[in-house]
Amino acid sequence: MGDFYELFYEDAEIAARTLGLTLTSRDKGSTNPIPMAGFPYHALDGYLQKLVRAGIRAAICEQVEDPKKAKGLVKREVTQVVTPGTLVDDALLDPRESNFLACVFPDRDRLGLAWLELSSGRFVATDVTLNELADELARLRPAECVVPEGWEGEDRGARSAERGKASTTLNSQLSTLNSLLTERPPWSFVPNECRRRLLAHFQAATLDGFDLDADSPGVTAAGALLEYVQETQKAALGHITRLEPYRRSTHLVIDETTRASLELTRTMREGRREGSLLWVMDETVTPMGARLLSDWLSNPLVDVEAIRRRLDAVEELSADAVLGRELREQLERGYDLERLTARVGTGRASPRDLGCLARTLALLPKLKAKLAGRRSELLCALEAELDLCPDVRADVEQALVDEPPLATTEGGILRPGFHAALDELRDLARGGKEWIAAYQAREVQRTGIPNLKIGFNRVFGYYLEVTAAQAAKVPADYIRKQTLKNQERYVTPELKEHEDKVLRAEESAVSLEQELFQALRERVAAHAPRLKQTASVLAQVDVLAALAVLAVKHNYCRPEIAEDPILDIRDARHPVLDRLQPSGEFVPNDVMLGVAGRESERANIEHSTSNIERRTQGPPAKDKAQSTKHAPLSTLNAQLSTLILLTGPNLAGTSTYIRQAALLTIMAQMGSFVPARAARIGIADRVFARVGASDELGKGQSTFMVEMTETARILNAATRRSLVILDEIGRGTSTYDGISLAWAVTEYLHDMVGCRTLFATHYHELTELTQTLKSAANWNVAVHEDGEQIKFLHKIVPGAADKSYGIHVARLAGVPPSVVERARVVLETLEADHLDERGRPKVPERPTRARTQRQLALFGGEHHPLLDEIRELNLEQMTPAAALQELQRLREKLER
Ligand code: ADP
Ligand code: MG
Repeated sequence: MGDFYELFYEDAEIAARTLGLTLTSRDKGSTNPIPMAGFPYHALDGYLQKLVRAGIRAAICEQVEDPKKAKGLVKREVTQVVTPGTLVDDALLDPRESNFLACVFPDRDRLGLAWLELSSGRFVATDVTLNELADELARLRPAECVVPEGWEGEDRGARSAERGKASTTLNSQLSTLNSLLTERPPWSFVPNECRRRLLAHFQAATLDGFDLDADSPGVTAAGALLEYVQETQKAALGHITRLEPYRRSTHLVIDETTRASLELTRTMREGRREGSLLWVMDETVTPMGARLLSDWLSNPLVDVEAIRRRLDAVEELSADAVLGRELREQLERGYDLERLTARVGTGRASPRDLGCLARTLALLPKLKAKLAGRRSELLCALEAELDLCPDVRADVEQALVDEPPLATTEGGILRPGFHAALDELRDLARGGKEWIAAYQAREVQRTGIPNLKIGFNRVFGYYLEVTAAQAAKVPADYIRKQTLKNQERYVTPELKEHEDKVLRAEESAVSLEQELFQALRERVAAHAPRLKQTASVLAQVDVLAALAVLAVKHNYCRPEIAEDPILDIRDARHPVLDRLQPSGEFVPNDVMLGVAGRESERANIEHSTSNIERRTQGPPAKDKAQSTKHAPLSTLNAQLSTLILLTGPNLAGTSTYIRQAALLTIMAQMGSFVPARAARIGIADRVFARVGASDELGKGQSTFMVEMTETARILNAATRRSLVILDEIGRGTSTYDGISLAWAVTEYLHDMVGCRTLFATHYHELTELTQTLKSAANWNVAVHEDGEQIKFLHKIVPGAADKSYGIHVARLAGVPPSVVERARVVLETLEADHLDERGRPKVPERPTRARTQRQLALFGGEHHPLLDEIRELNLEQMTPAAALQELQRLREKLER
């Protein structure tokens, strides 16, 4: 509405709430005033951002004809629909995160899944099962997901149960992922129509060239998705150049739970990037690189050769620090070519965007020269693929001024000399202004009014202004237009005529400039596929160079990638904890799992001597774990196990240890070096992690049910090539139930699946299992005991733990001393099997209240200063380690 965007009725109410606008109304006097809210047009970006963040779709209506020429109401049209999944504007996107739009189409027993990143043009289709759908959505975290309207209620036949299940899963998942569900009419999903639409967009006769099965539900999903995007964008979308098939078998499959519990790209509790593996790995210098790194981490490879190619490149770059630095310097100076190209493709690139695009292209020749003549295959291939796009660059550089504006509506976009007609119009406009100045001088002379001035406003255009005192001197040919307090304003036919010329010239210059700019943008858009390829090369070079920096900075080693299912890592560190703890404090550990091939056996023996030395001189002589039942390392190497049962007290580091084995596998398969001294890593087809009891109450399932569902899934889906890490399964039920389940699960994984398995458990009973399982071993975490004082060494050593130290931890946690003492007595009795004839423990008599009084004095009677300190602890913000430290400090205070 002129200079304002306005909203009415319900929209106005929503906007007022979401954007904090004042809700007013139109037709106030009437019985039915219309609710109304609005904001000035230049504030659009900020308000759009808020709307989209709130998960709201917004249709933008613009005036599409010149209000001056319009008869009656100015014509308006929807020019763009902005939705969370279809963003391309920089202001609305996080530069380091991809923004996906997904589409799900249920078809009998399969589900079609397509996804598009409009801001890069990447468009992918696949078919999935219901379980796989959950995994893929967890991986993509789409901002928005398109589904057929009413698909859960529709056709109650044999299939409706499956569909109902699918839609329930999808709904609950989308709400956890915070993504918007968009329903589209069923006719958007008619398979033939969908195929036709895709063919028309790609101007292809068949989809064979894309290596896609045209009848698959994935293709239908892709077609429906494309329709939605065409409708919301109202642009050509030339940067969407192909539809890629996605095959799970070419990637390391990581299911939803595993992804979450390993905290690959965000943390489990807060869902933030900080604290995740991605966060510690990200050394990229461009947003394109940051997004690609996240993509690599979310989709590690399984092809040994492909992984080696990446590792070769990382190795070459880490060995040549100068090369790495120089490449990164160039990359850093460029702009986000991928998203710039997308904005060109959707017709939304500003003059400044094109300027940035040309500047980025200008950096390429240097970059290409640096990449030339490298050893590694991948760097050579990237060099060859790097299209400098000199024609595009020249076209833009010749046209645009050096500092192009953001807006296309104010002129000043194109260089003088670029277009003759434009130059002429500009001269005319400028000349017209000169004429006005001369005319003013002439009129001052003619009328003898020294302070006669020529002014301009939007309503009257140019006018002659005379002070009231001089009005008598005004000649007869002046036509009075307006009387102000102290001035009179006039026009003359001569002035009007020139005004027309000037304004027309100015207007024509601006609209010609707009046209020429649009043509330029379209010419550039025609090269979108080349620009996209170049952007992809830049992103890859950035990621490889970043991985090299990471490796050098933190002393990572190149993993040896093997086909056989082995995991042999020396001095492995947890990539995140290693960085969060003060340098040198993290205790590295070895991982040895799998069926040793001849080659790796040799490697083992070579390493083992040094390990033995380190261990024997390690902990002090009094160390109990050291002195008890450790298998000699030599026997261990002879029979490498596929399954390790890891026991250790709480807080000893068992969870950390088993997670790091999975994390390093994933890092290696994405092509990264790993935090270890040496590593030989056999390709895993899947990684499963069942870690900790996560709170799934929000999903309406009991924790134990969730745990068993996940366990079932692992047992059903794991293969001999998988890596399984289990953290305390069977804890959500009674002890005997739990132990029995854990026991049977362990046997099954060992006997039937034969996958590499790390199982951390507090059930010591399970350590007995290794006596019957051929290829299983007990390991535990070394503990240093000195009387009552216990120190966790975080060192993983062979053998079963013989104590759980739970009572010790309870004391650390501040359980009253009398309770701790009582627990110790009960434990001793239980461990000694002191049961009476009715099977009840023969526990010594309970202490009376009088006897405990003395010990409770601290927290009872008088006020103790420590109490206040404890009350003020900000427990929500503390890590377990910090909490322990704090406890330690409090205790020291108490002992002083
Ligand atoms: P568990 O699962 O055995 O109860 P965690 O693996 O959760 O123990 O580790 C508890 C804490 O111990 C971690 O938060 C970390 O601070 C510390 N920790 C674990 N492993 C190590 C290690 N290898 N080196 C140093 N500190 C460690
Ligand atoms: Mg644990």
